[in-house]
Amino acid sequence: MENRYFQPEFETMPEKDIKALQTKKLIRQVKHVYENVPYYRNLMDEKGVKPEDIKTLDDLRKLPFLSKADLREAYPYGLLAVPLSKCVRIQSTSGTTGKRVVAFYTQNDVDMWEDCCARAIVAAGGTKGDVCHVSYGYGLFTGGAGLHGGSHKVGCLTLPMSSGNTDRQVQFMMDLGSTILCCTPSYAEFIGETLKERGIKPDENKLKAGIFGAEPWTEEMRRDIESLLGIKAYDIYGLTEISGPGVAFECEEQRGMHINEDHFIAEVIDPDTGEPLPEGSRGELVFTSLDKEAFPLIRYRTRDICVLTRGKCTCGRTFVKMTKPLGRTDDMLIIRGVNVFPSQIEAVLINQGYSPNYQIEVDRVNNTDTLDVFVELSPEHFSDTIKDVERQEQSLQSAMKTMLGIVPKVHLVAPKTIERSEGKAVRVIDKRKLHD
Ligand code: ADP
Ligand code: ZN
Repeated sequence: MENRYFQPEFETMPEKDIKALQTKKLIRQVKHVYENVPYYRNLMDEKGVKPEDIKTLDDLRKLPFLSKADLREAYPYGLLAVPLSKCVRIQSTSGTTGKRVVAFYTQNDVDMWEDCCARAIVAAGGTKGDVCHVSYGYGLFTGGAGLHGGSHKVGCLTLPMSSGNTDRQVQFMMDLGSTILCCTPSYAEFIGETLKERGIKPDENKLKAGIFGAEPWTEEMRRDIESLLGIKAYDIYGLTEISGPGVAFECEEQRGMHINEDHFIAEVIDPDTGEPLPEGSRGELVFTSLDKEAFPLIRYRTRDICVLTRGKCTCGRTFVKMTKPLGRTDDMLIIRGVNVFPSQIEAVLINQGYSPNYQIEVDRVNNTDTLDVFVELSPEHFSDTIKDVERQEQSLQSAMKTMLGIVPKVHLVAPKTIERSEGKAVRVIDKRKLHD
């Protein structure tokens, strides 16, 4: 396989050198935080741990965790580790699960983050010759800014489209010959559907690759997008708190995402006990950012569930890999006592040939949880008779029962009736929260 690296000196570093680099940076970072962030210093003092106690990577487990609740409590400046005058940027989370939090960046922090995005673009085959069409939202959301900066670093011709105005997206994509598309997978799907509606075939666009992330998506959805757009679709993961997209990215092997370990230490913990789990176990992902100057989070609990594996990758990278996070500890729905992830419902839909345009509605009626799944019919199926539609609903219900262990009520609805997302898709409406 061809080697595609942006910074091979780090991306292919032998494992023992990565560990040595991480150790050195961890010791420095803990000191920096202890001295400059009273909020975290208090947490360390409460646990009775001092910067001098951190000598090896194993000592990491002595340090206290940070969670989104801490970020909300310390909002806006409580976790800032440098004077504001040294900061050049603020970004904010999307607020998927509640109040948004903000993160600060020095110029070095922005550079490091953009390098991470550049690594992702190069891993997806990006070069100076590419037209990189960035349809993540620009603004406070990190998607647009991160991929935009990464695209510049690679030297691609950057098209700062931002999200929305799908007509214009399609027009520029075709007129300017976009070769790499960066956006959320749900928006990629929408752009793909729009091209199809216009009668533009996958081989008529110049796209070769897409870099999609910021929300969960299944392998089934990947195949769908790849065939709609005629591209290879790569996953990219990140979160504002730790920098933004590019914390981890997929290589051409497409079996897990390499975590940029020269900048971040990843751990997987048991979400209930907080105990670190051995490699290969499924648990909550926790990050320590080693180079961030302005907003250096130590042992930040992401709430994303995944598995870490270290092994030889055919791409030559040595960085540990994470599986796609197919759920967050906080998007798991508990319905009649059963744990349900939206991604499980999506997998059933796509497996049975439906589009991933769906919405889940949860409610409580007479003290019993209800689960309704609204799924769009494709235009080809829409003309089917009522009997046919009922039969399809039944068959989806029984497939979901097998997957979830409970039976939802499935409603097939007309094409284009579920609102399309230009950023992160809204998959779940939990009305139970309104009654609480
Ligand atoms: P918010 O937590 O408000 O959505 P962000 O916009 O910073 O804030 O999004 C980060 C979160 O998005 C991650 O913690 C993760 O849950 C999700 N995410 C990002 N990239 C991916 C991806 N490739 N696959 C699945 N989920 C992702
Ligand atoms: Zn690889």
